[in-house]
Amino acid sequence: MLKIIDFHTHAFPDSLAKRAMEKLQDDDIVAYLDGRLDSLIKSMDEAGISKSVLCNIATRPKQFESILSWCKEIASDRIIPLPSVHPKDTEWQKKIDLVAQSGFKGIKLHPYYQEFVLDDNSLIDFYRYIDYKRLFIVMHTGFDIAFPYDRIADPIKVINVLNQVPTLKLITTHLGAWDDWEEVQKHIVGKKIYMEISFSLEVLDNNIAKDIITKHPDDYILFGTDSPWTDQKEAISRFMKLPLDKERKEKILFKNAERILIL
Ligand SMILES: [Zn+2]
Repeated sequence: MLKIIDFHTHAFPDSLAKRAMEKLQDDDIVAYLDGRLDSLIKSMDEAGISKSVLCNIATRPKQFESILSWCKEIASDRIIPLPSVHPKDTEWQKKIDLVAQSGFKGIKLHPYYQEFVLDDNSLIDFYRYIDYKRLFIVMHTGFDIAFPYDRIADPIKVINVLNQVPTLKLITTHLGAWDDWEEVQKHIVGKKIYMEISFSLEVLDNNIAKDIITKHPDDYILFGTDSPWTDQKEAISRFMKLPLDKERKEKILFKNAERILIL
């Protein structure tokens, strides 16, 4: 059996899961799991996923500490948690140091939930420091189903950041940019820019998805599901149905992730 790594999942501490999941769901947005870690692990077992990268989002600077300590608590052979530093935290440098010192490999950022514009000039030093600490970023890119379609996280902004911090390991989400795949084809496809594929095969025409995945360098694509917002097992079967060669599939399912996570 393949050892699959899911590079984009979410879960919450048990004490917060119920309230968090109620807040995040509505008539259009329905989750497949209850947001608890146990449920994620059960879903991984059922789907044959060996490891999940668990993305946390500090919506306010003061959430940093509680998220960091939860990340320390849950880190395991199966779960690779990513803490989150709020870009507007006046003490971001200290927080990034703490993330690196605690042994985490990267951080998660989300322009909509954290209210920033991806290529804002004031953030370039922040990105530089993350890169200097050899951490990667899983960056929400593209639009977000829960927010108005403001262009704050689109492909051209990714390019603007990478032009200024070329060594930064910035992993775009949702096949380059959620629901902005024409821009992905224009600006990202074919370049050495990481993308994970979560929540794209569910909404995007299969031929376009296949086109993006085959034209992109195969060392720069990662499997992800955005669980609990998709079903991990279903996401794997959608991916496996794409007509891609075996080598590319293996790189996407786990080899590239192993390299980035230094496993
Ligand atoms: Zn997500």
